[in-house]
Amino acid sequence: MVAHVPSFRQQAFINGEWVNADGRASFAVVNPATSETIGHAPDMGAAETRRAIAAAAAALPLWRRASVMARAQILRRMSQLMIEEQDRLARVMTIEQGKPLAEARIEIAYGASYFDWFAEESRRIYGDIIPGSQDRRLFVIRQPIGVVGAITPWNFPSAMLARKMATALAAGCTMVAKPAELTPFSALELADLAMRAGVPAGVFNVITTNAAAAVGEELTHNALVRKITFTGSTAIGRLLLKQASEHIQKCSMELGGNAPLIVFEDADLDRAVAGAVTAKFRNAGQVCIAANRLLAHVSIANAFAEKLAAACAALRVGNGLEDGVAIGPLISMAAVEKVERHIADAVARGARVLTGGARHALGGSFFQPTVLDNVSPDSLICHEETFGPVAPVMRFETEEEALNLANATPFGLASYFYSRDISRIFRVAEKLESGMVGVNETAISTAIAPFGGVKYSGLGREGSRFGLEDYLEKKYICLGGVE
Ligand code: ADP
Repeated sequence: MVAHVPSFRQQAFINGEWVNADGRASFAVVNPATSETIGHAPDMGAAETRRAIAAAAAALPLWRRASVMARAQILRRMSQLMIEEQDRLARVMTIEQGKPLAEARIEIAYGASYFDWFAEESRRIYGDIIPGSQDRRLFVIRQPIGVVGAITPWNFPSAMLARKMATALAAGCTMVAKPAELTPFSALELADLAMRAGVPAGVFNVITTNAAAAVGEELTHNALVRKITFTGSTAIGRLLLKQASEHIQKCSMELGGNAPLIVFEDADLDRAVAGAVTAKFRNAGQVCIAANRLLAHVSIANAFAEKLAAACAALRVGNGLEDGVAIGPLISMAAVEKVERHIADAVARGARVLTGGARHALGGSFFQPTVLDNVSPDSLICHEETFGPVAPVMRFETEEEALNLANATPFGLASYFYSRDISRIFRVAEKLESGMVGVNETAISTAIAPFGGVKYSGLGREGSRFGLEDYLEKKYICLGGVE
């Protein structure tokens, strides 16, 4: 069945060298599709992290002063290498994370696009000249903030790091990255490409660990680190914000979401169904901008739910390395249990299972893609991020009711809606409380636009020219005594 397993790095990367943990401790990484151990990564702690931070601090003076052309060339090379190695990198991702190979390939290309974009943006870190009084000249220059600590999740193990790394390096910062313990290998592959692309030793370092808290504490309690960038849960984001207060580190936080997808009565129903399938079932629903709650106008709700259930039932579940698979395994059995809890709670409150609803016959952490209809807004599934392949459909009667339901969450990452009424499109887009809104479109992520949330979904933006600002400080220079 399964095609060849690619080779990949199994050591951490500090100061341009592949290294083991002190004492050579390591932890196993398991393929969620087969439960087989695919390799081991060094289990590092505070001491190794401290060394990586010191290396990043030592590399900073040269990297921040590198010519913009040199930095741009290295970043462009990084993008090219990712595309050249797209297939191998995608396979590494699929065996450590579980997603279908086609999605893994798209993720690698998406990550590469950040290096491409920021290779260009790195050449446009302009300053300002502010008109002053006669004998003064006022300037503003943008400078790299310094050493950045990055902590990334398992759901997009390559792209979530690629977009932080591309931006930081473009700004002239150096980085110590800590990938999720479930998926360290995709991050180590980025270090390998960085070395081959010509990123100088110490500029980009990867610490692997099964003790995230110890590494997180060193990154936040070490005054050499001037910025923390994190993608993960709101609970850990909140903890890191507290820790980062010690040295007043600048923070970017991409946290949880609970995205609504509203289908108004004037929507193109087939387009809405196709958009909902992508937004809900990509990566088996393990996406922070996944459509977690589907709100359909009563007049079209039956038709929408039925079409959605039919599309969902056609999705093939299996090992992501196999052709035609659309839904891989969930990352862990704990994820399966959460999905089951959400379904049981929704059903107890009156929801109807239109398709799926249970573990898949393949066993392990495979779960059937599921559509629930008539879900009550007080269900658990409407208030917690499900992170699984379950689409709950709710009904509404008025636009105001839809907006109230959509905004009834402390999260505010993405929202989606389908409508063809131009006034409604502006009205609703402006009233939705989220950092991103997809109108008649759910494939909204791109390097050229700002990704990020409001409320409990985080701080800061990644991608676009706005993303670069998060890695730069503005310095005001006042020149006096001009005759
Ligand atoms: P998820 O629920 O998606 O696993 P987490 O927020 O737990 O999200 O994990 C995201 C990243 O945060 C991972 O790299 C994980 O190892 C890391 N992490 C978890 N706990 C801590 C912690 N106490 N300090 C620093 N990083 C942590």
